[in-house]
Amino acid sequence: MLSHLFTPTPNQMKCEYCNNEVQPGAANCPACGAPVPAVNVTPAAAPAPRQAPVHAASVQPQYQQQYSTPPKRRLVYILLAVFIGEFGVHNFYAGYTKRGLLQLLIGLLGLPFVIGPLITAVWAIIEAFTVTQSADGREMLS
Ligand SMILES: [Zn+2]
Repeated sequence: MLSHLFTPTPNQMKCEYCNNEVQPGAANCPACGAPVPAVNVTPAAAPAPRQAPVHAASVQPQYQQQYSTPPKRRLVYILLAVFIGEFGVHNFYAGYTKRGLLQLLIGLLGLPFVIGPLITAVWAIIEAFTVTQSADGREMLS
């Protein structure tokens, strides 16, 4: 009798016990009184995840202002890579500490066999041409 008063909307759901229509947000079924699962009330909670990317984007500028060190210079990075890059010095300069340590290890341990520094020197030259950002994500100054 009352059911024709409610205009059915996509948000409207049915009671899982008596199949009667339940208003969105209602705690109990009006027909049988069974509790409505909280999962069915999601339309109200749906906008929450959308705020996450907006929040992350707004954090970015604040993070940019927190840099305490001046930006790295690309010319310095390239010169270090070309001349002493086989020992990872350019990566230490740009903040890529792990990569620098790896090159230092390969360069030093491979020193008696020549091939070690050769590998890291080629590696360093490639980085001199391709790496344009320091480890903190900032573009290096040209
Ligand atoms: Zn019911």
